[in-house]
Parts: sequence; C-alpha cells; structure tokens
Amino acid sequence: MTQHPQQFASDNYAGICPEALAAMMEANAGSAVAYGDDEWTLRAANSFRRLFDADGEVFFVFNGTAANSLALASLCQSYHSVICSSSAHVETDECGAPEFFSNGSKLLVAQSEDGKLTPEAIRALAASRSDIHFPKPRVVTITQPTETGQVYSIDEVKAISAVCRELGLKLHMDGARFAHACATLGCTPAEISWQAGVDVLCFGGTKNGMAVGEAIIYFDRALAADFDYRCKQAGQLASKMRFLSAPWIGLIESGAWLRNAEHGNACARRLADLVGDLPGLSFKFPVQANSVFLEAPAEVLEALRERGWRFYTFIGGSARFMFAWDCDLARVEELARDIRVAASGQVLAA
Ligand SMILES: *Cc1c(COP(=O)(O)O)cnc(C)c1O
Repeated sequence: MTQHPQQFASDNYAGICPEALAAMMEANAGSAVAYGDDEWTLRAANSFRRLFDADGEVFFVFNGTAANSLALASLCQSYHSVICSSSAHVETDECGAPEFFSNGSKLLVAQSEDGKLTPEAIRALAASRSDIHFPKPRVVTITQPTETGQVYSIDEVKAISAVCRELGLKLHMDGARFAHACATLGCTPAEISWQAGVDVLCFGGTKNGMAVGEAIIYFDRALAADFDYRCKQAGQLASKMRFLSAPWIGLIESGAWLRNAEHGNACARRLADLVGDLPGLSFKFPVQANSVFLEAPAEVLEALRERGWRFYTFIGGSARFMFAWDCDLARVEELARDIRVAASGQVLAA
C-alpha cells in the first residue's frame, strides 16, 4: 500500500500510538479470561481511578456514539429529556442513537453559536414547560472541548453543574477529546470532571491514540447499576475485552494520554500562528484545542482542495483541520504554505 501524505480532515485518520499498541501487544502475549473479568481490564479501571483520584465505576465500549447514548440512556426514563447544545455530537452525529437506546428520551436543543451550553440556556429550556405533556428534563450533556474546539473553564463547568443540582438534573460530559481539554486548562482530570460536578464522563480513547475504544466513568457508582447489562444488550460488551482495556493502561500509565493531546493542541496552535495574519482569512472559533476552523472565500478553499488537501466544511462552512497525536509539524507548515499561496492568489485575482 502506498503511504499518502498526512491529512488533517479528522483526528480519526491517525493510527495507534506506540504506548497503546505496546500494551495491546503485551495483552496479546497469552490468553486471558473473557468478557472483562481479566486482569488487564481491572488494571485499566484502576488506572482511571488513580488518574481521577476517584473510586468510580469504569466501563469500556467500542465507540463514542455507544458511550454517549448508553450513558445518557442510563440516566433517563423514556419520558425524560436531555438538554444539549445545537452542535452537540449527540444531536448532529449519532443518528438518533441517544433516543434509540433510551427508548425515546428526547434531546432538547439549545441554539449555540460557539457550541457551548450556558447556565442561562439550560435554565430556559428546563423551565420552558412543567406540564405533563412535555418530556421531563433529566440530564444535561456538555462536550468538552466542544465540537467547535471550545474548552469550558473549570468555573464554567461548575456554574453548569450548580444549575443542574438546583434543577435536579444529572450532568454528563462527552469527553471525546477530554484529554485535549485537560492539556489546554493545565488541570487535573478530577478538577474538570467530578470535582466540578460531572456525574458521568465519556472519555475518548480513539481520538487520544487508541485503535478503538472509549471509557465511561461513573463517579456516582449508584448511577451505574445494571450498566453492564445495558452494554451487553447494545452489542457493546467485547468478549476479548482486554483489547479495549489494555491500550488505556499504555496511555495512562505512560502519560501518553496527556502528551498526545498536548501535541495535537500545539499543532493546531502552530497552524493558527502561521496563517493568522493573512488578509481575507479568519478563524471561525478561537483555537483552544486541537482544531482550527478556517474561514476563507470559497475560491481559497477550492484552491486548497486542488492542492490535495482534505477537510470538512460541515460546521458553518469553515474548513476544519484536526490534529492528532501523530501530527507531523512539517506537514502543518506545508498546509500553512498552501493556505498562504491560495489566499494570495485570491488577493491577486481581486
Ligand atoms: C468523535 C466524537 C465522538 C465519538 O464518535 P464515534 O464515531 O461514535 O466514536 C463523540 N463526541 C464527539 C464530540 C466527537 O467528536
């Protein structure tokens, strides 16, 4: 197979990082008990407990859609509702899985420019109706960092959880890129999760350097009752569980979970620094994690495509570039150079 030049259309283009792969290889050296009753899975769960300084319940599933929708379903009855932002992955990119796995719990969507939920928006939706005809608000879900690369500060999460407590709502965090938020904030995982009032966290492994897999962490163990059955019913109980759990040991015990995220963030910062001064270009959102959303005239984006660059424009028409653990800085510089050339062609043509 030919190796193609690196692209930044998605952080899922990346391969498996060495630490995760080494742990998988180690777990492959012999046999182990099936369905999660193995020593690798126990050790991975304990790694999370140490990392979070919390005695939570930890589950491993194949992907983020399953993690989010099963976690939300576990917090809801079918007549409940879940408050989320209009750009939330659960709303825009999970094909209705949260509603499906909850047997109909409805998503209540707050319009949001930058992807963040606010205490005011939560309060407005939760208070919009209180009669029997409306699905009863039960959960708030926030994405950290958001789909638009915005990082909630610890104080912002605390303000949201305070409203949740006041209104009797549980707080779920979609942490598909949770490590990137920790890297940006320079905080411990505990500070931005349970210490800030998060009840359940979906911690993304795939975008953090694993082949596949996400962890679901219940800081309140009572909420995890029967969750193992829910996973099994949904087709998310891996029989050879050690291959979903062992890579976490590699990521967490080596510190790669944070280094990988820091690298992705630094690459996004680098691109932003290299093209931030170009006339006619701007960033749709502040660069706070591992993504850059570039706003440019359609001709400039077309010129970039012609030069072979791949990117999505599904968020507000801007070109999204995502940087993973394996991002090659020389390739970022090539991209910046091509953006510069495309933009100057635009200026010359005008
Ligand atoms: C990638 C991602 C997920 C998980 O997506 P899957 O393809 O189901 O693994 C969840 N939430 C956000 C915000 C994501 O970016």
